[in-house]
Amino acid sequence: MKYYTVPSLILKLATMADKEIQQLQKLRSELTAVKKIMGTLQQRINQIEEVIYFKCDHYWILDRANVGEHTEYVCTHCNLSKNDNLNPKLH
Ligand SMILES: [Zn+2]
Repeated sequence: MKYYTVPSLILKLATMADKEIQQLQKLRSELTAVKKIMGTLQQRINQIEEVIYFKCDHYWILDRANVGEHTEYVCTHCNLSKNDNLNPKLH
C-alpha cells in the first residue's frame, strides 16, 4: 500500500476531483447562459402578448382548463386570459 503524508493526500484528493470540478464549472456556466436566454425569450413573449392583447379581436369563452375560485375567460383566437395582468381594467 502506498503511503501518503496528509498534505500529499489532500493534494491527491483535490487532483482526483479536478475532472468533476471542471465539469461542474462548465455546467454552471451553461446553466447561466440558458437562464439568460430564457429571460430574453420571456421578455419577448411578454412584449408580444401585450401587443396581441390590445390588437386581437378577442372572442372570450369560459376557460374550462382553469377551474378555480375565480371564473376565467380565454380568447379563442389568441389564447390569452381575459383576466390577464395586461388587462387595463384590472389596474
Ligand atoms: Zn384574443
